[in-house]
Amino acid sequence: MKYISTRGCDDGSDAARAILRGLAPDGGLFVPSEIPAFTESELELLKTCSYESAATLVFKKYLVGFSDEEIACCVHSAYGSGAFEDCDVIDITTCGNGTKILELWHGPTCAFKDVALQALPTLLVQSAKKCGERDKIAVLVATSGDTGKAALEGFRDVPGTSVTVLYPKDGVGELQRRQMVTQRGENVRVIAVRGNFDDAQSAVKRVFSDAHIASSLETRGVKLSSANSINWGRLLPQIVYYALASERLSAAGERVDFAVPTGNFGNILAAYYAKRMGAPVGTLICASNANNVLTDFIESGVYDRNRPFYKTLSPSMDILVSSNLERLLFELSGRDCSAVSGFMRSLSDSGRYNVGETLSGAVRELFYAGCCSDTRTRETIKRVWREHGYLADPHTATALAVREDFARERGYKTAVVASTASAFKFPAAVYSALFGGHELSLMDDYDALQQLSCHTELSIPSPLRSLGSLPTLHCEECSPDELSTLLAETL
Ligand SMILES: *Cc1c(COP(=O)(O)O)cnc(C)c1O
Repeated sequence: MKYISTRGCDDGSDAARAILRGLAPDGGLFVPSEIPAFTESELELLKTCSYESAATLVFKKYLVGFSDEEIACCVHSAYGSGAFEDCDVIDITTCGNGTKILELWHGPTCAFKDVALQALPTLLVQSAKKCGERDKIAVLVATSGDTGKAALEGFRDVPGTSVTVLYPKDGVGELQRRQMVTQRGENVRVIAVRGNFDDAQSAVKRVFSDAHIASSLETRGVKLSSANSINWGRLLPQIVYYALASERLSAAGERVDFAVPTGNFGNILAAYYAKRMGAPVGTLICASNANNVLTDFIESGVYDRNRPFYKTLSPSMDILVSSNLERLLFELSGRDCSAVSGFMRSLSDSGRYNVGETLSGAVRELFYAGCCSDTRTRETIKRVWREHGYLADPHTATALAVREDFARERGYKTAVVASTASAFKFPAAVYSALFGGHELSLMDDYDALQQLSCHTELSIPSPLRSLGSLPTLHCEECSPDELSTLLAETL
């Protein structure tokens, strides 16, 4: 098995090179040259095995060229050394009429991105070693919230790496900001960029293409890298929980439907790969918020980002370009890389593309799509709490709502809703949905955290509990224009 680009480039990259590079040389995304299948006995094993065993099984299928020891080391450091509150990494609970909840947020930052970002640092260091790269890896991340903290926790004190996170000074929640500026570790750095997320993101992109920085880094033996969700090393760890959960929940070989709150299309795409490998995964239910570009695409075959951008209660899904969709188009078009290149060229030229009837039909055969307004998100949080005693965060609530639409249209049967964050990560929004009017959404997040815990009699997850009293360790700040100069000498 090698890794090829969705846009046609085949330079013989193996898994290590694909992970180290992140993006393929032609701008496409790396995909495995063939999708491996589970054997009958492996599927049987998944019903009962531990999370670590399942991860080992899935990693081995894709990381050709990695030794058993390397994979064991990666899996153990990510999932077996106490980073996750529950040693099984995931938790599956029930929430009324055939709805199961797959909780993916028991890691150090209380959001699902931990599952991948606890594994990526080791994968990256091992990949660099295999490629004969002796440079130190400097990871640079722009974040609008969840990714930054998860990357800091993942790369913290990993030898041979450093991590620098840039967040928009005016663009992250107070709890999210506290999570970052209190980060411990010898190799971590957090910088506030004056401006919004786009300013921070553009500043990071300029750093990546800055020739002066590149040569300065080269002379110092540093290689710049990103922890972006298009890296194969971030997608791979997510396949594990779909394979595991579908096997554990499938009764008599029946397929299990999954509803996933979706932004960049990474999480739901991992479910597609698990299905292709032979796991009993049924319909993939793609939930969006008011930024419903994916809903329209799945229903019509037309992807069109020319529309207003909304800031919603589920900020990690506020996205108009879902990068990982490119991998799905590649697979469902029969791996037609010239068609995929055409769609992506059209997207960058005009902001839209039309995949045509055949491909659109293939998408609809696998996916169901729906979107959920903030009002409905709040109602869903309240209803699910009142009727089932389940406390959902705003992202999870969008998937619960769209799963209801799906069941009403196609009949009720067991479905799994992916829960991507702890409700305590968005306490003001959740508290006001449960107990108050709109004015409460302006309440202070620390107050909301205590009040939410008090009124629901649920305890605050430990990574969020002590945030108010931890010392601030990072207070660097710069304007977008200053960033390149600031980083040139200090990365
Ligand atoms: C990142 C994120 C999502 C979206 O996941 P994608 O892989 O980008 O589709 C959903 N919910 C939460 C809480 C997230 O942090």
